[in-house]
Amino acid sequence: MPEPSDTQTRHDQHGRYPQAATVDDFLHNLAAVRARIDAACHRAGRDPAGVRLLPVSKTKPEASLRLAHAAGCRLLGENKVQEAFGKWEAMRDLSDLHWSVIGHLQTNKAKLVARFASEFQALDSLRVAEVLDRRLQIEGRSLDVFVQVNTSGEAGKYGLSPEDVQGFIKELPALSALRVRGLMTLALFSSEAERVRQCFILLRNLRDQLHQSAPAGIALDELSMGMSGDFEIAIEEGATVVRVGQAIFGARSMPDRHYWPGESSTEEPRP
Ligand SMILES: *Cc1c(COP(=O)(O)O)cnc(C)c1O
Repeated sequence: MPEPSDTQTRHDQHGRYPQAATVDDFLHNLAAVRARIDAACHRAGRDPAGVRLLPVSKTKPEASLRLAHAAGCRLLGENKVQEAFGKWEAMRDLSDLHWSVIGHLQTNKAKLVARFASEFQALDSLRVAEVLDRRLQIEGRSLDVFVQVNTSGEAGKYGLSPEDVQGFIKELPALSALRVRGLMTLALFSSEAERVRQCFILLRNLRDQLHQSAPAGIALDELSMGMSGDFEIAIEEGATVVRVGQAIFGARSMPDRHYWPGESSTEEPRP
């Protein structure tokens, strides 16, 4: 049986995944991703039920999202609030379709998130947390949130520095509309599996540490980490949520630097 330490990234596939154009394509891709999740769980001695697959639909048109819904997807991840809000409005007829915002949020867009999202995975400032909480109170809603951590140390990346997370989390119990679920990260985008793995290990260790000191009411059970190119490594290191776009929907035409500051060349397949 292969050892977890042998697992490589699949960043060489980045930008090459074929477009999913039918419900059958989605069913096929979802099954293939789930099989990879199961295999990674098996290597790590984990129960696959402990890993949630979050399909990421950013840049994809409404028709494509409707196919994904028909194939069984009920929660979709979107990076940009405006885009997500537009899709939510256009697809309100699908009353069982829910939205997870996984990208950086500015305070002036927090009120949109408070209106339609059921999950927000990129919380990284107290100001945003406060505005979100206030707007949620007005809407009479609550929101599952993940605190985003910059585990790669790259200067342009969003997320709190690991050393700032404990102090940040202490402020959150006062914001009662936010249900803190755990931590989220984007690993270094690299074909060097060991360096990618270190980002995931850092997030898990941080979660384990914070578990001890977390204020009452702050759960911190979840680790959202891993995407199409690296989710198997993330699962081996404890991911409970993997955010997978291209491997389900197909490659994006939009360069990734549009979504990830500091990612200057990820639209090019890596050698
Ligand atoms: C786009 C995106 C993903 C998914 O990336 P894929 O390579 O399409 O799997 C995961 N997390 C975040 C924050 C994203 O913006």
